[in-house]
Amino acid sequence: MAAAGVSSPPPLHDPLQTPMPDMQHVLVEYGWLLEAPLEQLMAQAAQLRDQRPRHANIVTFSPKVFLPLTRLCRDRCGYCTFVTTPRPGRRAYMTLEEVLQVAELGAAAGCSEALLTLGDRPELAWPAEAGGELAAMGYGSTLEYVEAAAQAIYRRTGLLPHINAGVMTEAEIRRLKKVSASQGLMLESTSMDLLQPGAAHDGCSSKHPVARLATIEAAGRAGVPYTSGLLVGIGDSRADRLHALACLRRLHDKYGHIQELILQNFVAKGGTRMGAAGAPSPPLLELQWAVAAARIMFGPDMSIQAPPNLTPLEGGAEGGGAAADAEAALAAGWRALLDAGINDWGGISPITRDFVNPERPWPHLAPLAAATAAAGKLLLPRLPTYPAYLGLLATPTSGSSDGAASIATAAGAGPSGSSSGSSNNRGSSSSSSSCGGWLDFTGGSASIGAAVLRAADSSGLLRASDWAAGRPEAEAAVPDGADEDAHKRLQSSSSSPPPAPAAVAYGEHGQQRQTHQRSHEQQASRPSVPLPRPPAPGSGWRVAVSEDGALQGFPAPTEPSRQVARLLQGVLEGGRPLQRDEIELLLRSRGADHAAVCAAADRLRQQVNGDSVSYVVNRNINYTNVCTYKCSFCAFSKGKAAEALRGPAYVVPLEEISRRAAEAWERGATEVCMQGGIHPDFTGDTYLHILAAAKEGAPRIHVHAFSPLEVAHGATSLGLSYERYLERLAAAGLGSLPGTAAEVLDDTVRAVLCPDKLSAAEWGRVVGAAHAVGLRTTSTVMFGSVEEGPAAWAAHLDELRRLQQQAERRAAGGAVGFTEFVPLPFVHMEAPVYLQGRSRRGPTLHEGILLHAVARLALHPHITNIQASWVKMGPDRAAQLLAAGCNDMGGSIMNETITRAAGASHGQELPPPRMERIIRAAGRSPRQRTTLYGVPPPDQTARSFEAAELAPLVFAAPGSGTLR
Ligand code: SF4
Repeated sequence: MAAAGVSSPPPLHDPLQTPMPDMQHVLVEYGWLLEAPLEQLMAQAAQLRDQRPRHANIVTFSPKVFLPLTRLCRDRCGYCTFVTTPRPGRRAYMTLEEVLQVAELGAAAGCSEALLTLGDRPELAWPAEAGGELAAMGYGSTLEYVEAAAQAIYRRTGLLPHINAGVMTEAEIRRLKKVSASQGLMLESTSMDLLQPGAAHDGCSSKHPVARLATIEAAGRAGVPYTSGLLVGIGDSRADRLHALACLRRLHDKYGHIQELILQNFVAKGGTRMGAAGAPSPPLLELQWAVAAARIMFGPDMSIQAPPNLTPLEGGAEGGGAAADAEAALAAGWRALLDAGINDWGGISPITRDFVNPERPWPHLAPLAAATAAAGKLLLPRLPTYPAYLGLLATPTSGSSDGAASIATAAGAGPSGSSSGSSNNRGSSSSSSSCGGWLDFTGGSASIGAAVLRAADSSGLLRASDWAAGRPEAEAAVPDGADEDAHKRLQSSSSSPPPAPAAVAYGEHGQQRQTHQRSHEQQASRPSVPLPRPPAPGSGWRVAVSEDGALQGFPAPTEPSRQVARLLQGVLEGGRPLQRDEIELLLRSRGADHAAVCAAADRLRQQVNGDSVSYVVNRNINYTNVCTYKCSFCAFSKGKAAEALRGPAYVVPLEEISRRAAEAWERGATEVCMQGGIHPDFTGDTYLHILAAAKEGAPRIHVHAFSPLEVAHGATSLGLSYERYLERLAAAGLGSLPGTAAEVLDDTVRAVLCPDKLSAAEWGRVVGAAHAVGLRTTSTVMFGSVEEGPAAWAAHLDELRRLQQQAERRAAGGAVGFTEFVPLPFVHMEAPVYLQGRSRRGPTLHEGILLHAVARLALHPHITNIQASWVKMGPDRAAQLLAAGCNDMGGSIMNETITRAAGASHGQELPPPRMERIIRAAGRSPRQRTTLYGVPPPDQTARSFEAAELAPLVFAAPGSGTLR
């Protein structure tokens, strides 16, 4: 009998389009793995794992909460203690309020993942009980409720849903893609023998290999970052495991969507069919073999995972004994799995139990981190989505096709991946290309894609850091995935129960939902699962990433890796230039590697610059915020259509430019720094007028002005080459140019950040032309927004070094080219690209520190001044950078506009007395400098310490004609 309101079932899965390979072919290709000694396989697997180009020395885990939305299931596998049956007075489903309550506890503990694992379409087996309860809540199917819960979780708490909802159709998978960071289904095995009477999957139609492979393939077509894996020891042979892995490999080769493989060992339990039959748990070496085989078959890029709470214990420790013996045996088991080639421990929770294996609690993070460190690896938290699948620049392979999701709402069938309670983590994949995206960005900042980006650092791992460029550190932290505006609203509201999710389609039941929910709550007396409480102080653990990029408060390797140590020695002792891939490797440093890189940079800075820290007394003049360009990171510019946004559009009249320059000189400045938007009425002559106005106000002041974009605009408007136009500017008194508008010198990144701006090559041509005519420039990078961090930063540094070498070759000698390198961390708070949900929250603190340190090492000896931006980093963190390779604090500025428009609030001016106090507090000697690192006139220096208050600024409306 069907429950009232439950719609008829759709097909349970699509047809399998990629046939399974036959066993004979699998054995021809991989049969040697059955014969080779285990030690040899493990050595080969570990070596492959250590070739992971981007994450060689790290082992990851996903801090999560486990949300068993329902333990009812249409199937009953021979090993499962998760599944249950309806009981009077006990709810079959966690309520939305319970789900959010657990998720909020997880968010408070620094978790990133909400694992939704549940029985497969229980309404098919229990139409009255499951179907009735769903209808009472206002949902037509379990999957419809999963969708609503997942959306509520990430919007409310920032936790990122990973959904294990069982066998599904492509349409259903696509619909859940809109609310999930990743999805998964354990293949478990392809052995048909397991479907025979008395075997593990006897009577479990959802465990038919074709059904499961069809679902995994449908996820590939839908472009979903996906988790799968094997259940080892449920009656499968080693050859069966090779066959199952070969099936997964075929699908991954076609779609590129399998981000991790879980090798989960069967654990024999009482109260199950297999337990009663005396089926033994597999020994550790069976799991090691499966791990090694998977690593060898999938290569270095695939994430290979083994759940650490299920590790088979050797030496009789499985049956109990002294706690110390058990702990030692567990640590030995973990080491054995690391030696076999895993790189991930999967999901671990400080809040919830493993509902699939409740007798096997997840370990505390401390011993797991210690065992990982003992193997020379650093344990780091990650997201449910693996790095290769993150962001706007990562797209599915051509085998998949993204499109509008149209799902026939299911009241269908099919068990979930309930055998894999730990099946939640995902690994990196092979490269991907073309069409669509791995994450759904529909809905902008409210989308799941935006939530994932908010939680990510620049390497695609969990950010877990409250620091953000431009934001005072005392401000309240926002949970990683959470939308900042939504979070502020929640903070200002009371601790009232969480609202039901809006914007979820409840189908035909939507109108009845509230009434049903109330009556359901009245009748239900007991929750479906035990709900966690906040851990007692000191008993739980919390995830936070510290300034060196390692997990805060947990064991980590104490010595730098051999690779990093060798590179640093080469730079410091041999003067060996770093190659681009080596720069990237240093930019991925964490923990002891991070400390070693910063120490090396500090040593090199000491050799090159000594202990003095320079700064320039200057004034910023941003003469207009009107701009025809559409840079997605820019909160400063005003297009004609956006004059009402973020304050009025303005131009600064020429006489005001003169006045500000004169006032700056009176206040001890030796430089005015002038840049602005690309006003549609400006020509190359306008910039000459601006320059003349500044010189008129302060004839002896150094004018540091006009970004490469402005130079290109000015030259083009006058029909001049860059060189000729720059010569005219130089003749008119231009002293040097800011090397801004570089952003990230990668046209793929620029296509997102500044599609209509000059290309990376064009930027280099303008800067090269300036250097060729004898004008020096600074060099910059704006980092931490949308780019794949370390790779893009390494390429950027390499390009700056090339340009500087080009300038050096052209010159007969003396100081040429770039004066300095200024890393500018992306300030996200008001940046349009962030507000649209298309960027991260800028670099983390450890990334910010590291880029300065690596720049010192990579640019040596060509660019010898590395500047810390107090405007972006904050004065205290800028001072900290003085121990990480920096020797310059930039300018005192007087008027900061652009970064404050992006939401920064580190102030408008850092006057010399305060600047010098900060530098001395860092143990270094302040030195006032000119723009070109000379010595300022003594009377200017004296004035700078006695500066009067600034007079009010004067602006004019755009179009007033005052600059023409
Ligand atoms: S960054 Fe510069 S060019 Fe781009 S929109 Fe802003 S002001 Fe205009």
